[in-house]
Amino acid sequence: MHRRIIKIISSLVLFFSTVSFATSNILNKHEKTKDDLEITKQDIHSVVILGGGVGALTSGIYLARAGYSPLIIEGSMTYGLIAQSHLVENWPIEYQISGTELAEKLRTQASKNGCNILSKEVIDVDFSKKPYVITVKDLYKSNQIEKIFANACIIAMGSSSNYLNVEGEKLYWGKGISNCAVCDGALYRNKNVVIVGGGDSAILEANYLSNLANKVSVLVRKDALKAKDKAQINVLNKKDNVEILYNTDVVSINGDKENVKSITVFDKVKNVKYNLDVAGVFLAIGSRPNTQIFKNKLDLDQDGYIKINNNLQTSINDIYAVGDIVDPVFKQAITAAGDGAKAAILCQKGLDEQIAVKTDTKAASIKRASDLAASSVIEIKDMKQFENEMATKNIPIIIDFYATWCGPCKRISPILENQAKILQGKIKILKINVDKLHEIASRYEIKAMPTIVVFDKDRKMLFKKMGTEDISSLLFSLEQIKDKSISEIEDYLQKINQSS
Ligand code: NDP
Repeated sequence: MHRRIIKIISSLVLFFSTVSFATSNILNKHEKTKDDLEITKQDIHSVVILGGGVGALTSGIYLARAGYSPLIIEGSMTYGLIAQSHLVENWPIEYQISGTELAEKLRTQASKNGCNILSKEVIDVDFSKKPYVITVKDLYKSNQIEKIFANACIIAMGSSSNYLNVEGEKLYWGKGISNCAVCDGALYRNKNVVIVGGGDSAILEANYLSNLANKVSVLVRKDALKAKDKAQINVLNKKDNVEILYNTDVVSINGDKENVKSITVFDKVKNVKYNLDVAGVFLAIGSRPNTQIFKNKLDLDQDGYIKINNNLQTSINDIYAVGDIVDPVFKQAITAAGDGAKAAILCQKGLDEQIAVKTDTKAASIKRASDLAASSVIEIKDMKQFENEMATKNIPIIIDFYATWCGPCKRISPILENQAKILQGKIKILKINVDKLHEIASRYEIKAMPTIVVFDKDRKMLFKKMGTEDISSLLFSLEQIKDKSISEIEDYLQKINQSS
């Protein structure tokens, strides 16, 4: 009993010292610059998780179940790189599951357990003192910047795909070059494609594409594969329409300015340069950690990965890091999840010890598509419905080409739903799943997802927009014409057409 009283008193002392510490920091902030936001203890999150992949979501689930409603800042790549795996076969319990479905299940679990999920991009951090400051940018309105305060952070911002840096790569990006076979593969049905890379991702993607494409050439720069998954390699070796070209470097990617037509490669053994006629080039050449914003703020190793100790703690107290951002070796969803759980438990222990002020109630949450009222977007089910919708020539049409596998497409969906309601009667919005209706996608030469195609009221194609940023900024810009006449709307779209 005596020990319990001492524990309570010492807890109270710690509690008040934490509050006074936070208050003194607040005062310091106010003294420093007048631009500083007014921070109250309600604004300080106990713990903020940076990233939205498997590691981040697992940390979120553990912390939420421990009573901290953590804020997860998921960034622009919904679900992280796992979303690019069409098939995951080594996740315990699931025999086969797509990367997107796996992450989607985790995200739902995190959300149901009480995590607040914010879709914004982390652009800066200040870990020099508590409360730590995380600066985020709106994904679509880049001038909207916000500061988020935290007593502890778990960084799980993963890695980004590498680029080849060869001639033609920038010009044909999205016009035949992709780093996501799962997202864009369906657009290359019955065409010839190449995969660059010899790792597990390349093998997995080659297997996936071999079921769609006419022929798949895997370009490996060394004389052996780096891939370790023997089962997948065996499957690939049995495919008639797959060839593996070893000792082969990419020289350039060529086309007619709009579409990829061929790739020039160099055979280092035969010492010859030659062309392969292909419509698609898929890169699977590894990734680099997303640590740009942590330079000079956390200790990084020579390859840019965040350094952590055995307790997954970075060089700063109460800042943990997990997953691909710390891991040049394993890079597995399950290891990220395991470390996410460990970091959450360790972080929770630290927070409990500090008697952290649980003030997460103000955390923002994103609006899910399912929260919105009935949809005004028309999902096209078959060719006949599509022809009928196109034949009704009264208002402009926007067609959204998407795939169920495509993470970025999911980001566009809620915006599209919202804008469809605002623009009802002025612009018709159709959605086309390219997996089901690939003939429509090939009719309009869709090369990457998400892509939208805009038509005037007479069904003349005006322009295309690709990628979440360009599409969302166009969709947001349409709000300004919602009260205009159809001919004024057409003029507005024509102007965009001319400037595209
Ligand atoms: P890796 O780093 O393992 O492989 C990258 C491949 O791309 C290597 O073959 C590399 O060649 C090649 N490469 C790199 N740069 C270039 C370039 N400029 N030109 C041509 N080729 C290039 O990346 P992955 O994404 O494949 O895998 C990452 C991690 O994820 C690995 O640990 C892997 O095991 C794991 N993974 C596991 C899966 C599974 O378990 N089923 C599925 C997918 C990934 P080189 O060998 O010469 O360096």
